[in-house]
Amino acid sequence: STPGGPRAKEEKIVVTVRLRPLSKREQAAKDQVAWECIDDQTIVYKPPINDRSTQPSSFTFDKVFGPSCSTEMVYEEGVKNVALSALMGINATIFAYGQTSSGKTFTMRGVTEKAVTDIYNHIMNTPERDFAVRISGIEIYNENVRDLLNSESGRNLKLLDDPEKGTVVEKLVEETATDDRHLRHLISICEAQRQVGETALNDSSSRSHQIIRLVSSWILVCHGLLLAYVHYAEFLTDLSLTMQTIQSTLRENSGCIRSYVASLNFVDLAGSERASQTHAEGARLREGCHINLSLMTLTTVIRKLSVGGKRPGFIPYRDSKLTRILQHSLGGNARTAIICTLSPATSHVEQTRNTLFFATRAK
Ligand code: ADP
Ligand code: MG
Repeated sequence: STPGGPRAKEEKIVVTVRLRPLSKREQAAKDQVAWECIDDQTIVYKPPINDRSTQPSSFTFDKVFGPSCSTEMVYEEGVKNVALSALMGINATIFAYGQTSSGKTFTMRGVTEKAVTDIYNHIMNTPERDFAVRISGIEIYNENVRDLLNSESGRNLKLLDDPEKGTVVEKLVEETATDDRHLRHLISICEAQRQVGETALNDSSSRSHQIIRLVSSWILVCHGLLLAYVHYAEFLTDLSLTMQTIQSTLRENSGCIRSYVASLNFVDLAGSERASQTHAEGARLREGCHINLSLMTLTTVIRKLSVGGKRPGFIPYRDSKLTRILQHSLGGNARTAIICTLSPATSHVEQTRNTLFFATRAK
């Protein structure tokens, strides 16, 4: 166990809700605030006088963040423990789920930034381990997979089944970050690349999923002299080669060695209005609003994992690109944090309710 680090025996799925402030545009349109966080676990609907609906009006979660809560709070209380479990060798995924304009990108960028700071603090404070952090960026748009670190790679990368690593994206670029500044730079390349797509394809951010994947690996050598090897070897670029070098040396010197690797995924999902098949019935479907296979499959997978306990039964990971790519970081021993983002506006009550229903089923 890691002193001061995350504990392994924590909840597998942490579901939190974040209600953003009313935007300038909503204020200008005389939209009203329809939701209130009455304590840090409860959000309630404040119906206008003419609303006679009998829908549930109060929802409780592990944590509810109101409009005055900072991203720092969201990170500290809703994400940090899950994110840092990757530094113990446990795969983890952080999702932002919510309708378009509810604050997914805003929140996900903020928590990714804070996680990077924490990861490098941990690395600095753990000199006995030699860490490497690799990053890749993936966008899924209409079930087409694109490499956000390689603008030359085209829009339809194949998924391959690797016997050891599980599903991998063919030819996906994985860069090794030399330090936290370099990592932030690589993340900003992914974000800029996503925006390029946004202008090319109308409204793509509401339809596409973005995954920033950090893979951290380290070697722990329980033999003083051999630490020098770890520092010296091409560890940062080729873990397996270094492992061979060290292992053969260890056999000669009777030391012990352990290696760890874990992925941490930051996922900015497509707008949840793309998943609301049943709830959209009867309501006016906005133009171009069609069902997003990856989002639909993800909601099914999460629902099955959350009700499943020890025996979740069949989980349809293979039904979509998103769930295939994330399979080893969802369920099993992996840990998941879902931040459900909400608009407070009266004009968005229907979608906000859908998000709250999703959040309720996920916890
Ligand atoms: P989404 O990615 O869900 O479509 P965005 O993250 O782009 O939504 O947020 C929509 C707008 O609301 C942006 O201008 C963003 O800066 C703002 N916003 C979102 N969440 C917050 C918040 N918690 N506090 C202040 N502004 C926010
Ligand atoms: Mg967005």
